[in-house]
Amino acid sequence: MKTRFALPKLRCQLACIAALVSLTVCSAQSPVFRIIEKPIVFDEERKLLSLDYLIRRHGIQQSAPYIKPKMIVLHWTAVPTLQAAFDLFNPSVLTDRPDIQAASRLNISVPFLVDRDGTIYRLLPDTVFTRHCIGLNYCAIGIENVGNNNLTDAQLDANVQLVRYLKQRYAIEYLIGHYEYKDFIGTPLWKETDSTYLTSKTDPGKEFMKNVRRQVKDLKLKGSPLQAE
Ligand SMILES: [Zn+2]
Repeated sequence: MKTRFALPKLRCQLACIAALVSLTVCSAQSPVFRIIEKPIVFDEERKLLSLDYLIRRHGIQQSAPYIKPKMIVLHWTAVPTLQAAFDLFNPSVLTDRPDIQAASRLNISVPFLVDRDGTIYRLLPDTVFTRHCIGLNYCAIGIENVGNNNLTDAQLDANVQLVRYLKQRYAIEYLIGHYEYKDFIGTPLWKETDSTYLTSKTDPGKEFMKNVRRQVKDLKLKGSPLQAE
């Protein structure tokens, strides 16, 4: 007699558990946050060139090539694949950019590279000094997105998650797109010894920045000083 009544009860319990599991799965709106380690060369030459850049370009003397990040700068790579971007950042020495070669032999790079499908790769430890944004490298963590004027929704989600991750770990005050960097000329944050050393940038696009900012509004990060609300 006992089992006759217990069976429907068990079915009900199983149904409840199944419903709970599916609710949990469905309510997880964003994919699991994961960073894949994919280190580029970080040898003695890169360290020495970084220290040289810090003193000659930013006027900052340091004994180790690390930064206290205050800012995140978002970029696109312009090159179309993860491999091409990795190959671009991997060498310590810059070889194929005559426009910026005279300023330093240090190759360009960033700690984070986001692939088209939103996969996040860490190329260097978060706070290693990297060359990616004139005038602001000494305080800015760079995030590069594979692509150009066509960044994906998956990259948008990944950038939002990465900005949240970095804001939790460091005293980040600013979030900008690379195209906004020259707005900091004349502010206390700008540190570049040659006022004529400037490049023109449009990455990662105004629309992409608008979308990232909309999703991290609660973090209250500052943007360009010219766009201050
Ligand atoms: Zn850029």
